[in-house]
Amino acid sequence: MKDMKVIVIGSSHGGFEAVEELLLDYPEAEIQWYEKGDFVSFLSCGMQLYLEGLVKDVNSVRYATKEGMEKKGVHVFVQQEVTEIHPEKHEVTVHNLVDDQKRIEKYDKLIVSTGAVPVNLPVPGNDLENIYFMRGRDWAIKLKKATVEPEIQNVVVIGSGYIGIEAAEAFSKAGKQVTVIDILPRILGTYLDPEFTDVLAPELEQHHVKLALGQSVQKFVGEAGKVKQVVTDKGTFDADLVVEAAGVKPNTAWLEGTLELNQDHTIKTDRYQRTNQPDIFAVGDATYVNYAPTDQMSKIALATNARRQGRYAVKNLEKENTPTPAVSGSSALSVFKYHFASTGVKDATADSSHLKVASVYVEDTFRPPFVPADHNAKVQFKLTYSPENGRILGAQIMSTADVTANINTISFAIQQHATVNDLAYADFFFQPGFDRPWNIMNVAAQKAQREMEK
Ligand SMILES: Cc1cc2nc3c(=O)[nH]c(=O)nc-3n(C[C@H](O)[C@H](O)[C@H](O)COP(=O)(O)OP(=O)(O)OC[C@H]3O[C@@H](n4cnc5c(N)ncnc54)[C@H](O)[C@@H]3O)c2cc1C
Repeated sequence: MKDMKVIVIGSSHGGFEAVEELLLDYPEAEIQWYEKGDFVSFLSCGMQLYLEGLVKDVNSVRYATKEGMEKKGVHVFVQQEVTEIHPEKHEVTVHNLVDDQKRIEKYDKLIVSTGAVPVNLPVPGNDLENIYFMRGRDWAIKLKKATVEPEIQNVVVIGSGYIGIEAAEAFSKAGKQVTVIDILPRILGTYLDPEFTDVLAPELEQHHVKLALGQSVQKFVGEAGKVKQVVTDKGTFDADLVVEAAGVKPNTAWLEGTLELNQDHTIKTDRYQRTNQPDIFAVGDATYVNYAPTDQMSKIALATNARRQGRYAVKNLEKENTPTPAVSGSSALSVFKYHFASTGVKDATADSSHLKVASVYVEDTFRPPFVPADHNAKVQFKLTYSPENGRILGAQIMSTADVTANINTISFAIQQHATVNDLAYADFFFQPGFDRPWNIMNVAAQKAQREMEK
């Protein structure tokens, strides 16, 4: 359709990518882009770099500016919240948060990327001051201020997923006493198996990050309206600041009764990003993605997924063209001197994926033995596969050297349904400045082959 009008809601990863693809595929379309906040396209992924001072200007942590996108012909509406969708009329209600006026806008196609918001634990005291969240520009500014406030000494981070660990490291580097509380018995429990977390836990403790694991928060205790303690079922922790990083919930309350939602309130889409209503598409953290190891729609809140879905919503705007490619939930993180990355299924997550898995674990130096030890870090690698057919299902890697990019190869192997036989003698380069004659992925796959032959 040549003169189509497309409305995109949300200016983060999913919304931005949808707009970019629209500009490429439908240069003549009228594009209206709505953001309820006062800032277009803030990237929470950059928060740690800003908190630690590597990135100085919070306003640079973005893909796009309003002015830049307007130059490309996009109509950008900031501080304008889309509050209702009327699918039968192809209309939305827009609330201008500046002058408090409401208006109706028509659309031919609508793309929803309203994302997710952090969970505020439903326990007494959760409305006290100094309970912060690690998402979005406003919280980034507040957290940055807290890193230099002398009256903030004890910081309690709730949640030891990658966002909680990013917060813990940033506050530890700012000289604060940090405690990380998690209900799970291990940090990063859904990203890494114990071979890796058993190394990372002491690394955090060495940097004065105390771990309070296997316990659940019961309440926050305050003094003069400010949080002072966090009480769990196993202990009490002093807190001048709490950072809640205990998961996110989809920003979809306003869509109840309009779009079909999953049980956890994410928006139900098919693999073409279509919702149950004609001409309405949804992408990003408010939706599911097709998880390659299981070929099931699953919740994996990552920018990479939101971006891919944003592109594919547009590719499928007029007709069912190509399904959004399946993903493996690949992510990477540095924890002080270590760098790790993981993708797909781990032993720790095999049960929740309902998969029968086997794994092999290998340790090696990343360069040949003749290279001196101070230039030749140890690498830990674990490959997870199906014991029935050898299909590669996941992998984890960690070292003080940055070898994380190997995980992208495994993610691609999972997407392509490759097996340990495909990987065992796959052609990877060798150069002693970078690696060993057999790449660690070859080594692990060869070991898995031998295990399967037994
Ligand atoms: C600290 C942190 C670090 C992260 N690091 C990484 C990383 O390294 N790699 C990675 O892949 N992922 C990372 N993520 C995850 C990534 O940020 C999210 O997956 C991604 O932001 C999801 O994008 P989205 O478009 O779905 O929505 P969101 O980012 O949630 O944004 C939704 C936007 O829509 C707006 N909005 C909502 N409702 C309305 C409405 N009704 N009208 C108008 N506007 C509305 C919101 O104000 C918001 O700007 C990180 C997340 C955090 C919090």
